[in-house]
Amino acid sequence: CGIVAYVGHREACPLIIKGLKRLEYRGYDSSGVALLNGSGLVIHKKKGKVSDLETELSAKDTHATTGMGHTRWATHGEPNDTNAHPHYSNDRKLAIIHNGIIENYATLKQKLQQKGHVFISDTDSEVLIHFIEDVRQETGNSLEEAVRLALQEVVGAYAIVVMSDEHPRQLIAARKGSPLVIGIGEDEFFFASDATPIIEYTKDVVYLDDYAIAVVKDNELNILNLDNVPQAPYIQKLELEL
Ligand code: GLU
Repeated sequence: CGIVAYVGHREACPLIIKGLKRLEYRGYDSSGVALLNGSGLVIHKKKGKVSDLETELSAKDTHATTGMGHTRWATHGEPNDTNAHPHYSNDRKLAIIHNGIIENYATLKQKLQQKGHVFISDTDSEVLIHFIEDVRQETGNSLEEAVRLALQEVVGAYAIVVMSDEHPRQLIAARKGSPLVIGIGEDEFFFASDATPIIEYTKDVVYLDDYAIAVVKDNELNILNLDNVPQAPYIQKLELEL
């Protein structure tokens, strides 16, 4: 039910955990993080409180300057460690966090299973990242293009962030129905469900529109819609104080 993602020069993990705690008021049953470091894409997730995840992380090497975190309010699949987000693609090179519901996930899942995709969780969200992976393999397109094409086929509501271990300085986010705010700092970018995890770092934010995809790559933010039309980001100044 909450999303925090970061790419920049700070330690991503503590920033994400702090942000997830600010989003706790939204309600949740489990939480998790995905971090990109020297050994690739690493995911840690846990049923329970963000502080339980934090305890688990304290024994791990969490060094990374790109990462994303999620608090889940289960809609498809019971609350447990496996169903917690982030979820991997089949080849484990991509990861997703998702708030919302993918209504046509069962049809997509069946098609993907016939193509050899193996699902680990009972969630609708895991289906979405396998679908993005499949579109990418079928079309040979870039990840952002695969996200766009996949979302054109998706029925439901979502705020998502996608990471790839092939592009350690990249985050791709999209929304329809569920909120997503982008914070723009100096050589750093933040994504969150609301501005509270962002405000201590920057006051410049963009509220992503429905059917919009935000791509942060090479220290640049680009926004396009599902029809591939570029959107000029409307940057607002946050006035609220913590
Ligand atoms: N539908 C997804 C799930 O059950 C996401 C729920 C949420 O918004 O946290 O895992």
